[in-house]
Amino acid sequence: FKQKAIMDIETFLQNESNHPADYRCGFVAIVGRPNVGKSTLMNHLIGQKISITSKKAQTTRNRVTGIYTDDTAQFVFVDTPGFQTKHRNALNDRLNQNVTEALSGVDAVVFVVEAMRFTDADRIVMKQLPTNTPVILVINKIDKNKAGNTGLQEFIDQISAEFKFAGHETVSAKHGLGIANLLARLRPYLPQSVPMYPEEMVTDRSSRFLATEIVREKLFRYLGEELPYAMNVEIEQFEEEENGLYRIYIAVLVDKDSQKAILIGKGGEKLKKISTEARLDMEKLFDTKVFLKVWVKVKSGWADDVRFLRELGL
Ligand code: GDP
Ligand code: MG
Repeated sequence: FKQKAIMDIETFLQNESNHPADYRCGFVAIVGRPNVGKSTLMNHLIGQKISITSKKAQTTRNRVTGIYTDDTAQFVFVDTPGFQTKHRNALNDRLNQNVTEALSGVDAVVFVVEAMRFTDADRIVMKQLPTNTPVILVINKIDKNKAGNTGLQEFIDQISAEFKFAGHETVSAKHGLGIANLLARLRPYLPQSVPMYPEEMVTDRSSRFLATEIVREKLFRYLGEELPYAMNVEIEQFEEEENGLYRIYIAVLVDKDSQKAILIGKGGEKLKKISTEARLDMEKLFDTKVFLKVWVKVKSGWADDVRFLRELGL
């Protein structure tokens, strides 16, 4: 009787989930040196903007999990902070540790490089790649390759001589080219399993977290070289009102008064622009009206204070 009951439950669950027996679900880590286009790639893989991107290196400070679900598989992507090799401080040590952690326990790894550009920083990341997990080499930004595909095969051969990749794909993350091929390439590495997340879910990060990510992206986009690395964004208040409005108060922590002045800008112009653009992005992502207030606080020396970093969840 017990046996039969268990079988009935299994049959029930299978019917309930409505997924083919060969459905796949697993984790894929996206790694690469800063600025190769990891966040852009993930946003295109899942078809929504959840990971922030910027022209400056190292905008991604936290792991962001993006989820893509179709009829045959569910891919759970982990975006990683780029390896920081220039400066050694508590923050960068922690960032690098996060990358190593992101690589353990995934089913496949995507190693992103820029077409025709392989630097020492790429090599440092490549040396951290796992040898017991399939790694797909992704050559991004092929749209920038003025000479078309000339030299591309040699470029791929050169990199492949230094590490045993399970395969490679050429893509343009920015223009959404080669994305479907990459998904098809990754699919066989996912274990057979029912989906872990609901079909409509694109990330397991909270709305609060995504709100801070959006503000960080605007900060990187609109500030000069002098500021961004000594900066953190915190939610002070996040409320969903009954009428659907999100009321969000966000503080930007900086190191010095001078940085605060730069961030605010003449007559408050810069901060206003940052807040407005962040609000518009949030309204798109949350699909509702947003009231957003962003202000700046000075807290000196925070980038070197490990205990403070822990409080921030880094
Ligand atoms: P990450 O640091 O690896 O996460 O890189 P991002 O995703 O933040 O991208 C860094 C920069 O490269 C941004 O300015 C992107 O717009 C740009 N980028 C990303 N993918 C492509 C691409 O396929 N083609 C071109 N031309 N630029 C790209
Ligand atoms: Mg990034």
